[in-house]
Amino acid sequence: MTAAVIDGKAFAATLRARVGDLARAFEDKAGRKAGLAVVLVGEDPASQVYVRSKGKSTLEAGMASFEHKLPADTAEADLLAVVEKLNADPAVDGILVQLPLPRHMDEQKVIAAIAPDKDVDGFHVINAGRLAVGQPGFVPCTPLGCLMLLKDKLGSLSGLDAVVIGRSNIVGKPMAQLLLAESCTVTIAHSRTKDLPEVVRRADIVVAAVGRPEMVKADWIKPGATVIDVGINRVPAAEEGKTRLVGDVDYAGVSQVAGAITPVPGGVGPMTIAVLLRNTLVAAHRNAGLELSADAI
Ligand code: NAD
Repeated sequence: MTAAVIDGKAFAATLRARVGDLARAFEDKAGRKAGLAVVLVGEDPASQVYVRSKGKSTLEAGMASFEHKLPADTAEADLLAVVEKLNADPAVDGILVQLPLPRHMDEQKVIAAIAPDKDVDGFHVINAGRLAVGQPGFVPCTPLGCLMLLKDKLGSLSGLDAVVIGRSNIVGKPMAQLLLAESCTVTIAHSRTKDLPEVVRRADIVVAAVGRPEMVKADWIKPGATVIDVGINRVPAAEEGKTRLVGDVDYAGVSQVAGAITPVPGGVGPMTIAVLLRNTLVAAHRNAGLELSADAI
């Protein structure tokens, strides 16, 4: 058996095009563009790439992009002042502070300073709480993107056994909440789980968000299961001095057993920015008091 490949790149392109259409319609109705502000502190090379790519995608979707780049030695109070200014700026619908922050800053304190209704990353405790109790709020982009791929592939998820490997606040925990809200029977596995392969073998849906290259093996997978690989790991390539990206799942082996699987790259990765733009569009409609039907997006 060879698994169907879940093409996150194509799905994300379609979502971005739909967001672009709705962003133009928003501009006609509201008399302004939807706006996303991204704050970067310091010069971490990976963060610089992410921020550049987010800015470019925001403009491509017909939204306004505001970039704030602060030096690595910025005082926490000065970063908080920037966040406060963005909270009060009516042109800014979504605020994203790129993580990780320099070590002298308290990430939780900075996230807590973002107005929950502009928290398009969904990291604020208010939004985590809204997700937990089933109220509308913002959901972290990567797990929401995974859910979109799962629903597109499987339709109803009701009653399915789902195992999420990883319990981080940005991927594992919100992923589990989303699957629970879809009436899955959810298990969260993590670094202390006993006999992980046996736990994963029960799953109709496996979401791997660990950060360990190719950890999930073919003999952990129930035949026909749907496997979502969130991991992004850089490993040495065959050619000396080169590297390549692999997920948390042994793709070559698992794709012989699973029913469907996301590749790395080209699976979950492209969904994250597409969902960020989607969340910003939702924020813009709420901030402008305009309707946006859940079916539209
Ligand atoms: P994290 O380091 O915060 O969390 C990793 C989780 O894995 C922890 O909860 C830990 O308990 C669990 N874990 C560690 N070792 C384990 C083991 N041996 N067995 C079982 N569980 C184990 O990581 P994160 O931020 O959740 O990210 C996870 C992965 O997803 C990383 O590779 C990251 O690069 C990737 N990621 C991708 C995207 C994307 O856009 N595709 C977004 C965020 C994260």
